[in-house]
Amino acid sequence: MVVRMRSTRSHTGNRRSHHALEETSFTKCENCKALKRRHTVCASCGFYRGKKVLDLVKKTEKKQKKAKAKEVSK
Ligand SMILES: [Zn+2]
Repeated sequence: MVVRMRSTRSHTGNRRSHHALEETSFTKCENCKALKRRHTVCASCGFYRGKKVLDLVKKTEKKQKKAKAKEVSK
């Protein structure tokens, strides 16, 4: 049998030339100057575009409470 639609090595290479992963770009947070990923909420202060979006203090308190409750029930 003859392969009619054979994909050559160069065809495969040409197709895969667009498959490379992009490097993630980091920017400085305008509130706390920490490095953060673009278009995401800052992980260290919870600000996004100059506005407070996440209450990180409350969040950590909640987490600790949950961990404590888990420990007690053991
Ligand atoms: Zn920040």
